[in-house]
Amino acid sequence: MTRTIARPDELDLDSPGRRDYWVALEHDSTWGDHLMPLTVMVGPDVKPGEGLVAFGSNHGNEYEGPVAIKHLLGEIDIADVTGRLIFIPVLNPPAFHNGTRESGGQDGVNLNRAFVDGAGITPALAGITHRIAAFVRDCIWPRVHVVQDIHAGGYAHRFALCTSFHAIDDPQQSRTIEETARWYGTPFVMTYQDNTPGLLPSEAEGLGKITVGTELGWGETVNPAGVRYARHGIRAAAIRHRQLEGEVTPLGHHADGTQKLVAMVERACFVPAPFPGHYEPLMECGEYVDKGKTVGLLHDFYHIDDDAWPVKAGVEGYVLCQASRAPVPQGLHILVVAQEVR
Ligand SMILES: [Zn+2]
Repeated sequence: MTRTIARPDELDLDSPGRRDYWVALEHDSTWGDHLMPLTVMVGPDVKPGEGLVAFGSNHGNEYEGPVAIKHLLGEIDIADVTGRLIFIPVLNPPAFHNGTRESGGQDGVNLNRAFVDGAGITPALAGITHRIAAFVRDCIWPRVHVVQDIHAGGYAHRFALCTSFHAIDDPQQSRTIEETARWYGTPFVMTYQDNTPGLLPSEAEGLGKITVGTELGWGETVNPAGVRYARHGIRAAAIRHRQLEGEVTPLGHHADGTQKLVAMVERACFVPAPFPGHYEPLMECGEYVDKGKTVGLLHDFYHIDDDAWPVKAGVEGYVLCQASRAPVPQGLHILVVAQEVR
């Protein structure tokens, strides 16, 4: 295996064949480069503007995506590729190698908030993280119509494993995205609010791309089921959107008909911690709750003789996310309950 170090303008993402690159993006403050691994596989039927990209490590402390995509690099035979596959196991190398959600030790920016106007162009937005966003805009978006962005809970949150997408207006795009998301096989497929600025998936959705996000683990570990779902879901998307030849059969909760489509859009789905404390879950993620039921307790050890504050479900639905660490700061969403759509 030879992996070539190349500047973005030296990449060949269009000619037939497989190429493995380290994409060199200049370091902000020293003589050197951040090296982003990128593998492109192009088949004989590639069409302009079409292809699939899979991103791992949009956030640096989420590991199921990098591991799953690293496996796929060795599993996919270029002879089976008909269209275009672009695999980027580590989209944010400085964050990944620092083991942090944001680009710690560099500009400190969260890549999944960096897709804003002027990213990588405006001098105030020219640090490495915004330049990664600009690289995706310039080099990747023009060549793909399917975008898979593999996330997990990282440091702060544990999840019921799910794929995710925003509620979008175009019913055809929405149906295709939901169908692509279901093929991962996760217990939940979740739709969420789209008010947060600068998200990679929001930009891809806005460009009309079939965009799937995920939450496939937590706690800065590697969740084996999460890796299995990511490997299968990315491969299924490549086959079903005609970039790869092969057979794929439904997996997990997709196969047995137990997959739930849920929404966390209403404010009442989210419970912020009213004070800093220690969170004790009383239920597991994935369990069903009635509105008003106590899901966990928030303890205040500075008022150790007071009763714990009951953390109650604001809506009826499934416990999708809880604080993963006992110590929680004020304002952290310590509980998210998602409402069943169908
Ligand atoms: Zn993430």
